[in-house]
Amino acid sequence: MALRGIRILGDPVLREPAEEVEAVDDDVRGLVGDMLETMYHADGIGLAAPQVGVSRRVIVVDLGNSDEDGVGTVALVNPRVVEAGRQKDKAPEGCLSIPGLEEVVERPDTVTVEGLTPEGEPFSREVSGLLSRALQHEIDHLDGILFIDRVSPFKRRMLMKKWQKSRAEEVAS
Ligand code: ZN
Repeated sequence: MALRGIRILGDPVLREPAEEVEAVDDDVRGLVGDMLETMYHADGIGLAAPQVGVSRRVIVVDLGNSDEDGVGTVALVNPRVVEAGRQKDKAPEGCLSIPGLEEVVERPDTVTVEGLTPEGEPFSREVSGLLSRALQHEIDHLDGILFIDRVSPFKRRMLMKKWQKSRAEEVAS
């Protein structure tokens, strides 16, 4: 396993729809291992392959200290939301690719996610709460969608102002 660099907002790979994985092979399992190491190192609870510059449909989630149900590590290949409940949930989200920014995002509380495990076995689970939110956030990444796209235009403008200011300070320091 190896650490990979995390791509930051502005990198075009974050906006590209990622490619379907044709075969779950050692290459994919190696990518999953690297993504987990990178996510843990960055103290994140989820990561999608485009965030490490790989435009393939692979995600990892581990809720860490917030993992109340003992779910542990979830790694999925070609994941998709096949069903979403009508009830919505609002909670703050951040993203390793947009460090320092956080905003409340509304999403369906319960979704059914399907995909393949890194062993190539079919995965299907109805999830809710934080796990549901994390999986939806990561699956969004595979379609080039970021959490800042899911807030009101007004809030997005505020976030972008804050982002440009923090980037400018980073360059200056
Ligand atoms: Zn993210």
